[in-house]
Amino acid sequence: MKQAEVAIIATPTIGNLTPAVEFATHLINHHPNRISVTILTISIPQWPLVNDYIQSRTSTNHIRFIQLDPPELPPPDQYNSSIELISLHIQNHKPIVKQTLQNLPFVTLFVDMFCTSMIDVANELNIPCFLFFASPAGYLSFVLHLTTLSESEPESESESALVVPGFTNPVPSNGYPLYCINKKELGYSCFVDHARRYKETMGIVINTFKELEPYTLDALSTCYTGLPPVYPVGPIIDRDGPAKWHANRAGHEKVIQWLDKQPESSVVFLCFGSMGSLNRAQVREIATGLERTGHRFLWVLREPAKKKLDLPNDYDDFENLFPDGFLHRTAGIGLVCGWVSQVSVLAHKGIGGFVSHCGWNSILESISYGVPIATWPLYGEQHLNAFEMVEELRLSMEIRSGSSDLVLADEVERCVKDLMDGRDCELKKKVKEMSEMCKKVVMKNGSSFEALEDLVNVILSKV
Ligand code: UDP
Repeated sequence: MKQAEVAIIATPTIGNLTPAVEFATHLINHHPNRISVTILTISIPQWPLVNDYIQSRTSTNHIRFIQLDPPELPPPDQYNSSIELISLHIQNHKPIVKQTLQNLPFVTLFVDMFCTSMIDVANELNIPCFLFFASPAGYLSFVLHLTTLSESEPESESESALVVPGFTNPVPSNGYPLYCINKKELGYSCFVDHARRYKETMGIVINTFKELEPYTLDALSTCYTGLPPVYPVGPIIDRDGPAKWHANRAGHEKVIQWLDKQPESSVVFLCFGSMGSLNRAQVREIATGLERTGHRFLWVLREPAKKKLDLPNDYDDFENLFPDGFLHRTAGIGLVCGWVSQVSVLAHKGIGGFVSHCGWNSILESISYGVPIATWPLYGEQHLNAFEMVEELRLSMEIRSGSSDLVLADEVERCVKDLMDGRDCELKKKVKEMSEMCKKVVMKNGSSFEALEDLVNVILSKV
């Protein structure tokens, strides 16, 4: 029997690359004798964390990694937004990707949501190409819907809500991804241009599962003519997380040792993604609100990036950041830190609630470990994810919606109390049920297992 070689190209961000690598592991585990995977990695020098992740995987993995020689980053006059820069940079890898793929026999290519330029390479080489989509079906439906609207829609100032296939409620403007509000600066047309190409692939693999987004998954197949088959194979989660590769081992151990000393479900965890940071005024409001709740807390805090394209960094120290005496007064109940292995924290029995920026990986990790979320979207498609989790799926409660307002300490206090005191019993119960479902769906006969089986059969039929 012939071996199927799968090649994967993913956007070099933690939120896109890590699920793509995990997906590779799922593929191999599903059919170890017949499928091997090569990941072609793209790097951006300004993002050392992603490069550390790639390095760590390269040296330990059963997956083959090929680091592509990077072309120069595009000059600033070629783009207005980060997404345009990233997309152009990826596109400039086309010749090297083509050359690399030519040396792999029987290859099937997977590209992610911002690597659609590589569909051209698949076409030139006449090889099958699939999309790996690391965000929810809800966001896929939303961005596909945008491709059917005129340039001026949806109107950013509009008070009216957008009716989108797969959403039972109209989506209000505070649930739109931010690029729909600030179109030029955040690269609206770039997102939509990528989405226009999704239909050109042979299939769309989504990191979700039928039982989580049943209505939306149905809508994808009935409302969008010409959309290829959709394979919901999630939740795909890297359960080792950065604990396995991040350089700050001591920091990780300190956090876990601290958590070990806390009572069960007593700690609220605050973390705002791999690119999230808060301004000083917001930090002070959160600190005041948190302190007033009296709850135990673990708070991941990063400094806003100083230069364009840079990512937020851990603070060197927290001097002058908090209200006077905050760290001293909360020393017995709280810990503020830099990058942690979020998945390890969510898996810890000490955690009782999660204030999250609502990146899709974070949501899946939280649901998998049965931790209820209070939503605090910041960037990307997170406002839509938050809307879906709160209003559509009733699996989260809202702290922050919209984009610009400062969330005051009173509001933080009220929401964290609601989250941690478990006032919404229905929410807690639903999250626990969904957590059980996460385990079931990936087991034999589970919906995601079956979807992966269907996908693997299609891949094998091509060799
Ligand atoms: N993450 C982490 N530690 C942090 C921040 C983030 O381990 O301090 C991980 C998190 O567990 C998730 C990923 O980084 O797997 C972030 O992906 P997500 O889709 O949630 O958000 P993004 O960072 O892409 O906005």
